Amino acid sequence: MDTESLKSLGWLLVWGALFFVMMRYGCGAHMMGRHGKRKNHNSAADRETKDPVCGMSVNPEKAAAASVLNGNTYYFCSRSCRDKFEKAPGTYTTVPHDAH
Ligand SMILES: [Zn+2]
Repeated sequence: MDTESLKSLGWLLVWGALFFVMMRYGCGAHMMGRHGKRKNHNSAADRETKDPVCGMSVNPEKAAAASVLNGNTYYFCSRSCRDKFEKAPGTYTTVPHDAH
C-alpha cells in the first residue's frame, strides 16, 4: 500500500469536515445577525414626520423649517418647501369643508 496516497486522502477528509462545519456555523450566525439588526431599526423611525410639500420624511428635531396651521405643526425639509406651503396651504393639507 502506498502511504503517500493514504496521507493525502486523510487531509482531504480533514478539509472536507472543516468546510462542512464552517458552512453550518456561517449560516447560523448569518440568520442570528439579521434578527438583531431589525430590532434597532424601529426606534429611530418613530419620530419622523412627512414634509407635506414634497413627501419626504423629516425628523422634527432636524427640520429646516416649520409652520403652524390650524393648531398643527408641519415640518419641512427646506425653507423653499415651507414657502410653497404657506402660499397655498390648502393644496397640501386636507381641510374639511365645514371649516368656513
Ligand atoms: Zn420638502
